[in-house]
Formats: sequence, structure tokens, C-alpha cells
Amino acid sequence: MQFNEFVANDKLIEEITEAVKTNTLPHAMILDGAKGTGKKTLAKIIAQSFVCTSDNRPCGKCPACIKAMHSSHPDIFTADGNNTGELTVDAVRNIRDDAYIMPNEAPTKVYLLLNCDKMLAPAQNAFLKVLEEPPANVAFIMTVTSANMLLQTVRSRSRLYTLYPASPEAAAEYVSVFYPKTDYGDILHAAQLCDGNIGKTLDMLEDGGEEAKKLADDIFAAVIRGNEYTVLTLTIKITASRAFAVSVLDFLTENAAECVKASVGAKTHSTIAADASKRMTKNRIFRLAENIERAKQVLETNVNLNFFSTWLSSVLRV
Ligand SMILES: [Zn+2]
Repeated sequence: MQFNEFVANDKLIEEITEAVKTNTLPHAMILDGAKGTGKKTLAKIIAQSFVCTSDNRPCGKCPACIKAMHSSHPDIFTADGNNTGELTVDAVRNIRDDAYIMPNEAPTKVYLLLNCDKMLAPAQNAFLKVLEEPPANVAFIMTVTSANMLLQTVRSRSRLYTLYPASPEAAAEYVSVFYPKTDYGDILHAAQLCDGNIGKTLDMLEDGGEEAKKLADDIFAAVIRGNEYTVLTLTIKITASRAFAVSVLDFLTENAAECVKASVGAKTHSTIAADASKRMTKNRIFRLAENIERAKQVLETNVNLNFFSTWLSSVLRV
């Protein structure tokens, strides 16, 4: 990747790009910002800029860049606090010792210390020793959700770069590249719900299917128990996006079909269907299945989602 591919945080990117050009990047950097704002991505681009052999660093094309992008550059070392043992006192001591060994092929050796939220005070103190007297040709890039998680002594010896979420529009545009088949309006809606946080938007789109299935099951369980208030509060959730609503309706239809089967004595593996045939009459189950089928058709028209969710909760009352 290159700096111009990074979304949002324009001023910060400008500052870092300038420092790369003038060879004035500090030897210790802290990237802080909420989960999903791109700290790791930016840390990797900075690391790549240290090893790139072209004039316009990082070029994204030279052999050093290619290795960096594949996490196989011998002078870029990564320790992730989310992986057990990678940012403990012992691990940090190893990093410290290693830092005094000359780089293999690049002019600088780079240490990416990711998720420093998990780096406890003793490990930070061990790290401090190398920050106080940094060897030449070494750069440390830490990522943390809040710089306040780090000791003041570590902070004062590093340059702090804070990342903010993108605008929902910029986030949606970026995310849409990974979801070419998803409706752009749905992506934008997800980005808006996530306040422009790209990581969260990607998670939301990724988990959409699983979430829809769970919501459909929860709605069904509430319908079977005649819990109208729960049905109402759950159906509001389908308004997240049209694609999500369609997905929930698909799962509701599947559940209804299983219930119908169970009600006429056919075998089913669905616990929901077994539950329904115990608690509901055959007539009610058939009416419910019909109403869900009708709701699916209504959703195919360009109905307003808020209106639809309210109406849906009423037709689920059978
Ligand atoms: Zn390069």
C-alpha cells in the first residue's frame, strides 16, 4: 500500500509523508485511535516506507515493498499484544537485544508493536530501556487504542499520531471495493451506523448473515411465546439496511417452513419448529407462514423500512 491509499486523516498522512520525504520520521511512534480506524494498516505502510528502495517511498512495487506487504521482510519484525506472550517482559527483552543487531538488508530495522493495550507496565518498563538509548537505524511503531494505556515515560519518548474515523461517505467508498456485489446504499448505511469506522463497517457487512439468522430466530422465539413487546423491539432491528431486512425475512421464511412441516407431523431438526408445534395450533402456524410470505413480497416493493418493520410486527401477531 501507499500513503495515498489510506482513507481519511489527511493532515496526519500529510505530516507523515513529509517526514518520510525528509528522512525525519521519529525513531519511536505511537499510533492511537479507536479499533477499526486503520492503525495497523498505517503502521504497516510506515514500516514499508522505511525499507522501500525507491525514491517515492513506499512505492509498493520494489522487491522490498513486496516483501513488506507479504509480511516477509527480514527487517520488519511484528509483535502483537493480542497474541499471547508476544508483548511480555521476556518478549520485549528479546526485541531489545535484537534491536542492537544490524539490519539485514534495509537501512532501518522496524519493530511493529501492535495492540499495546495488552502490554503491561513491567513490559513497558523493559521497553523503556531501549527507547531511552535507541540504537541507530531502528524504528519502533506502536499501536494502541488510547495512548493513555502507555506509561508517561514511554509516551514522552515517542511521537504520538492520533487517528480518527473517516466520514461515512469516505468509509463506504473504501469498503465498497471489497463488496462489489453489495448495494452501495446498504454499504453507506452500514458506514453511517458505524460513524465512519472502517473496521466496524467491514465487520458489520461480514457478520450480516449470521446476525440476520440470529435475529430471525429470536423474533420467532418471541412470536411463539406471544411476547409482543419483544417482537416489536426485535423487528425494529431489521431497519439496519434493506439487504439485512431481506436476509432476516429469508430466515423467517425458512423457520416458518420448518414449523409448518412439524405441525403436520413431518420430521424436523429445527428446535424452533419443535417448540412451535408444542405451543401453537396448526391454524396459527399456517397463518404465520402465510403472513411471513406476504411480508417477503411487500419487502420486494420499495416500502419504507421503518413502516415495514412496524407492520411486520403486527402481522407476526397471529
Ligand atoms: Zn518500494
